[in-house]
Amino acid sequence: MQVKCTLCDKVEHLKDDSFTAKRLRNRRLNLYMCAECHKRIEERTKQRHSTGKFHLYKDKYKHDDFI
Ligand SMILES: [Zn+2]
Repeated sequence: MQVKCTLCDKVEHLKDDSFTAKRLRNRRLNLYMCAECHKRIEERTKQRHSTGKFHLYKDKYKHDDFI
């Protein structure tokens, strides 16, 4: 079956008996993301998390210096 990535509109072919295809047919998965977009989002999320932690620690250290 053909699926379209909801983020970049890239059309991909899925094997009809693949797990993702089955989920899509059952409408349990309404949004399909291609592997590239999935990877991109995963990396962005990780980056945001590490940046957030970094700021958190930095602020704490600054605060400690003032005390
Ligand atoms: Zn995509």
